[in-house]
Amino acid sequence: MKILVVGGAGYIGSICAELLLDQGHEIAVFDNLSEGHRHAIDPRARFIEGDLQDRQAIDSALAVARPEAVMHFAASALVSESMRDPSKYFRNNISNGLNLLDAMEAAHVERIVFSSTCAIFGPPERLPIDETAPTRPINPYGESKLAFEKILRWYDEIHGLKFVSLRYFNAAGASANFGEDHRVETHLIPNALKVALGQKPHVEIFGTDYETPDGTCIRDYIHIVDLARAHILALDAARSELYNLGTGGGASVREVIAACRKITGKKIDTVEKPRRPGDPPRLIASSEKIKNELGWRPQFQSLDAIIESAWKWHQKFPHGYGD
Ligand code: UDP
Repeated sequence: MKILVVGGAGYIGSICAELLLDQGHEIAVFDNLSEGHRHAIDPRARFIEGDLQDRQAIDSALAVARPEAVMHFAASALVSESMRDPSKYFRNNISNGLNLLDAMEAAHVERIVFSSTCAIFGPPERLPIDETAPTRPINPYGESKLAFEKILRWYDEIHGLKFVSLRYFNAAGASANFGEDHRVETHLIPNALKVALGQKPHVEIFGTDYETPDGTCIRDYIHIVDLARAHILALDAARSELYNLGTGGGASVREVIAACRKITGKKIDTVEKPRRPGDPPRLIASSEKIKNELGWRPQFQSLDAIIESAWKWHQKFPHGYGD
């Protein structure tokens, strides 16, 4: 298939593009490089630099790439930043996304795979979180993604746009070539590995008084390659659907840091800090629906395997993409 990967220079988009190319698909990447990196774009892909604010740029990208489907990864995705700057989240994740949908409609591109998030749920009533759980986001990031899912439903009903929305839990790990390099790193695993590399003195633990066994937040870490595979399956989905995507396991912040110590063999110092605003205490996915309906099977079930792949990548590219 011909696929336009919007946000394909970012962490998740770059690895999805790589897997799609490995399977013989023809890929164009559309990215404004605000968060993404030129060197994260697989050389086999065509690169179109552009911004989703710019409707004309999207129109011309669609005219050049002539895709049968779009994968939409381009978004602002930090809970903490969204609590300081909600406008950025509503603009980037809703208004700019609407430009993409309208351009797709005009160009008769009728299929989209959308990067959504477990942040649409807020603190769950029961675990694991399946697709019937109420959506009550507690931060503007989750709210913006939930709003876009609703928009997708209406575009399907009114314009016949086929969509699959994948609600990622915590994406982590790397492929051999591409990994996680944010200009300002806020995520737990890369931050812990930077301490192991000697690039940071310690990793901060945000909140030690949650109602969890060790007092720190629990998340469901999913390997980036398993996540990418789900996108490829989503391309063939028979109908519009929403799927949660995790491994069903939970690890606390302290457990993640302990696993990083074990895998790297390094002492990773920690400093305990107050809670980070907007963080729910526990998020664990049920992925039964995507397993049953699309046949998704995660290959990396253990946190250790996820951290090992990230550690390999960080050792190979200690300064990330270097830009
Ligand atoms: N966290 C932490 N120290 C860090 C980064 C994150 O204690 O340096 C915590 C954060 O508060 C959350 C969990 O680790 O409870 C996962 O955070 P991350 O930013 O990796 O992903 P999120 O769950 O926000 O998408």
